[in-house]
Amino acid sequence: MKGFAMLKIGQIGWIEKERPTCGVMDAIVKPIAVSPCSSDVHTVWAGALGDRHNMILGHEAVGEVVEVGSLVKDFKVGDKVVVPAITPDWNSLEAQRGYSMHSGGMLAGWKFSNFKDGVFAEYFHVNDADGNLALIPEGVDPIEAVMLCDMVPTGFHGVELADVQFGDSVCVIGIGPVGLMAVAGAALRGASKLFAVGSRPKCVEIAKEFGATDIINYREGDIVEQIMEKTQGKGVDKVVIAGGNSDTFVQAVKIVKPGGRIGNVNYLGSGDFIQIPRVEWGNGMAHKTIVGGLMPGGRLRMEKLASLIQTNRISPKKLITHKFNGMEHIEEGLLLMKDKPKDLIKPVVIF
Ligand code: NDP
Ligand code: ZN
Repeated sequence: MKGFAMLKIGQIGWIEKERPTCGVMDAIVKPIAVSPCSSDVHTVWAGALGDRHNMILGHEAVGEVVEVGSLVKDFKVGDKVVVPAITPDWNSLEAQRGYSMHSGGMLAGWKFSNFKDGVFAEYFHVNDADGNLALIPEGVDPIEAVMLCDMVPTGFHGVELADVQFGDSVCVIGIGPVGLMAVAGAALRGASKLFAVGSRPKCVEIAKEFGATDIINYREGDIVEQIMEKTQGKGVDKVVIAGGNSDTFVQAVKIVKPGGRIGNVNYLGSGDFIQIPRVEWGNGMAHKTIVGGLMPGGRLRMEKLASLIQTNRISPKKLITHKFNGMEHIEEGLLLMKDKPKDLIKPVVIF
C-alpha cells in the first residue's frame, strides 16, 4: 500500500509498505478524510521525537473499518469511525491510574506517527478497537469529525489542565486550531474575560466567534505588558498555552495571578529547558501551578465531544479553511501546516 512518510529528519515522501495486519482486538481502517497537524511538522522538521525512518505520518483520520479482530465486540466491517490521535492500551496500569495517554510509558498512548505508522496511508492499524474507535454519529459531517481526532480534544484538554471555572479571566496563548478550540472550551466552561493571543487574521476572526473578548497581537508588543495593562496590573486567573515557544512559559507565569493555573498543550519541539521567572513565581511561593499534558484519547472521549457538535455547542468545521480531494494532496496539506499562510487554520484531505 501507499503511504506518505517521514523518510528521515527534514525529509518527506511517498513510500510503499505492506498493509498492516490485524490483531485479535484490533481493526484495520481505510481513511475517508485526514488532516495534517502542526505536530507532524514538529516531528519531521524539528526532529522533536528524535530520528524516525520511513515512518508513515498522520494521526488525525476518520475512516471505514475494513477488518476487525476476532475479539472486537462493538465494531464491524463497514462502520464509519472517528479515530482519536491518541490510542491507549486500556488494560495498562497507567490507564488504570487515570493517565491512559501514557500507557506503556511516557507519551506512549500516542502511537500513530510516533511509534508506529500513521494514518496518511491507504490503510492503517488501530489497537484496542473497542476502546479506541467511535462511530461517527448521525448528523455529523465526516469531514468536520476529523477535528474531533486531535484539535477539539487537545484544545479542550488545555482548558481542563488550566481548570477554568465560571467567571475566570483566561488567556489562551496561541490561536491556531488547537488554541481556537481552547477558546471555545474556555467559553463553554464559563470564562469571563477571554484574551486570545495570535496574529493571523483568519484565526483572529474565529477566535472572536468562539468567544474571545480581547485579541492580543504578540507581534505588536509584549504579551505581558498588554495583558497587565488590560487587567489593571492584576493578570488573569488561568492561562492555556497552545502556541509560542519555550519563552512563552515565562510570559504565562508573569500574567497568571497568585493561585492561578497554567495548562500547556503546546508541543515544545526544541531547546533543553523551560524557564520559570523566579520573582514572578513568588520566589517559589506564589501558588502558581504549571501543568502540561497530552490529549486523552479513547472512545468515550470521542463520543462525548461528538455530542457537542450534534447539539450545536461547538462548531469545529469553522477551523477547516482548506479542503483537498485525493490522497495525493497530503503533501500540499502538510506543507501548508508548515508554512502557515495567513488564510490557513486547518486543511483536510478527503480520500
Ligand atoms: P499553530 O501553529 O497553527 O498555532 C500556533 C499559534 O501560536 C498561532 O496562533 C500563532 O500566532 C501563535 N504563536 C506563535 N508564536 C507565538 C509567540 N511567540 N507568542 C505567542 N503566540 C505565538 O498550531 P496548532 O494550533 O496547530 O497547534 C498548537 C500546538 O499544539 C502545536 O505545538 C502542536 O504540536 C500542539 N499539539 C499538542 C497536542 C497535545 O496533545 N498536547 C496535540 C496536537 C497538537 P499566529 O497567529 O501569528 O500564527
Ligand atoms: Zn495532531
